[in-house]
Amino acid sequence: MNRADSSHARRSDAVTDTIFSKIIAGSIPARIVHDDDRCLVFHDVNPQAPVHLLIIPKRGIVNVAALAPEDESLVGHLVVVAADVARNLGITDGYRLVFNCGRDGGQSVDHLHLHLLAGRPLTWPPG
Ligand code: AMP
Repeated sequence: MNRADSSHARRSDAVTDTIFSKIIAGSIPARIVHDDDRCLVFHDVNPQAPVHLLIIPKRGIVNVAALAPEDESLVGHLVVVAADVARNLGITDGYRLVFNCGRDGGQSVDHLHLHLLAGRPLTWPPG
């Protein structure tokens, strides 16, 4: 397998249906705060902080471990959108961005998502 084939194999275009793909499709409701051609931002249904948003790519990627080199710009876009949304919401005291990856990382939905948590002091290390 050459490098290109290997890279393609690591992409997760064949990701299975998740609750997030249903939100992208519009078949499940969500409190959406940002929508563009590459990503969607909505409120987490079980917030862990006064502000808890999820930034997700519209493309089906399972998690950080499934990213390929050609996903660099998409991941950068997710982070820049997170910062824009935080600015637009008037979050001035800081926030935390988190990608949970895999079982030990605490990932429960197999569609790449970036958590944005804000509105209270967040402790470190996380549990
Ligand atoms: P993780 O545990 O990192 O995979 O994060 C998944 C997140 O998705 C959790 O914080 C859940 O509360 C959130 N979540 C699950 N279902 C929904 C939904 N229908 N709408 C919004 N957030 C959801």
